[in-house]
Amino acid sequence: MSQALTSTSEILQGEAAHNSGLWKQDIVFVRGEGVYLWDADGKRYLDCMAGIAVASVGHANERLVRAISHQAGRLMVCPQNLGNDARAAFLEKLFSFIKPPLNRVFMANSGAEANEAALKWARVATGRKRFVAAKRGFAGRTIGALSVTWEKKYREPFEPLRYEADFISFDRIEDLDHLVTDETAAVMLEPVQGEGGIHPISAGFLQAARELTRERGALLIMDEVQSGAGRTGTFLATEQYGVEADMVTLAKGLGGGFPIGALVMTDEVAAAMPAGGHGTTFGGNPLASAAALAVLEEIEARDLLAHASEVGGYFQEQLAAIPSERIRAVRGLGLMIGLELKEKAAPYIAALMERGVLVINAGATIIRFVPPLIITRDEVDEVVRHVREVLTA
Ligand SMILES: *Cc1c(COP(=O)(O)O)cnc(C)c1O
Repeated sequence: MSQALTSTSEILQGEAAHNSGLWKQDIVFVRGEGVYLWDADGKRYLDCMAGIAVASVGHANERLVRAISHQAGRLMVCPQNLGNDARAAFLEKLFSFIKPPLNRVFMANSGAEANEAALKWARVATGRKRFVAAKRGFAGRTIGALSVTWEKKYREPFEPLRYEADFISFDRIEDLDHLVTDETAAVMLEPVQGEGGIHPISAGFLQAARELTRERGALLIMDEVQSGAGRTGTFLATEQYGVEADMVTLAKGLGGGFPIGALVMTDEVAAAMPAGGHGTTFGGNPLASAAALAVLEEIEARDLLAHASEVGGYFQEQLAAIPSERIRAVRGLGLMIGLELKEKAAPYIAALMERGVLVINAGATIIRFVPPLIITRDEVDEVVRHVREVLTA
């Protein structure tokens, strides 16, 4: 047995010696419970980052832990060419939350993988090659997903990308009309942009995108990797817009921390992919299925959709009431919230960290709050008090 590293500096050095070098780390978390995390020095943090909208039912959630341990001791490996009881139970529960015409799912392991699958399905189902995506949109770091991601610094080093895409502004309905053509395979949109700065789409724009895609034989893909699985107060954020997509992708919150991605689609779209046309080794494994089933059961048992809507609305109101000249706007849907400043967010995020509140940015000037869906009003009050103090200091 090797000696476990215990001090913050030992752990950080241990990682820095061998990791990819992509991230600069200065804090070490070793344990979580509910909405709280503890660092290696025993300091407690109220977690409004949740692994970036991942720990949806809280850290060390009892039902989730039990489901994973139980399934790990029963069967972990069973690819999708073979049936499995945990997977069947998950699918049944998933489609109690997701309504027709969405009726089929391809299970993957991450958001980018779910989006890659959506792009491939769209190509095969329409026989077309071009995509329309949103300015400020984010779809993941693989080459296909990058093709429909806006941020230049993520895309440019890897060009040429595989898919041709046009980027559209969220509010410019008139641009849809000339960008969605008979060469468009799909329009891909986040109902609430996450990485791009927490921008909820407008109902008029989304409805226009739905009508034009239908009229011109293109598909509508909603990327709900961040907004989905209950974060905005409905299982899919898209439900709140009265729009039916042809495909929806899910990942972050769906497994409550267990890696999983899913492409949900209509019967018609699903049927377009020939047998063997796409695949995955790990996607749909029994362990991920059992974890995601437990998350859905927890959402149902604790009525977390209504809770996310109610407490998320309260959170936004309380942030908006902070009397600070530094605030430009508060935006969001349910528990997917952005506080936009007139200046860089990083110093305030660091100050919150110092006070034991963990948040993350969404762009240079936006503080993002995506806590576990179980966060209470009292915990929101605690977060807002700290935000008020750092912004009015
Ligand atoms: C995080 C995210 C992705 C990518 O998911 P990964 O699991 O990191 O590949 C895609 N789309 C949206 C909207 C996201 O927020």
